[in-house]
Amino acid sequence: MNELIEILEERFVPVEIIKLLDGIDKFDVDNYAVEHDICPLCLGELVMRRYKERRPDFWGFPAYEEMCDLVCSRCGEVF
Ligand SMILES: [Zn+2]
Repeated sequence: MNELIEILEERFVPVEIIKLLDGIDKFDVDNYAVEHDICPLCLGELVMRRYKERRPDFWGFPAYEEMCDLVCSRCGEVF
């Protein structure tokens, strides 16, 4: 946190820094992490996992839909 404030002080005045920090939401930080392929829980790398999900048979043939999700390579959490 102190490091962040030092960086902010190079560009903003205290009133602006307080407003900026006040606007940071845990949800936004988590979203930012996931957007950059970083696990918000353990900071591990997120990897794309592809798998096929069984769907109801189509004209008597087994049907599958290709699905994918983001999984943390360290803690295994799915996003
Ligand atoms: Zn993780």
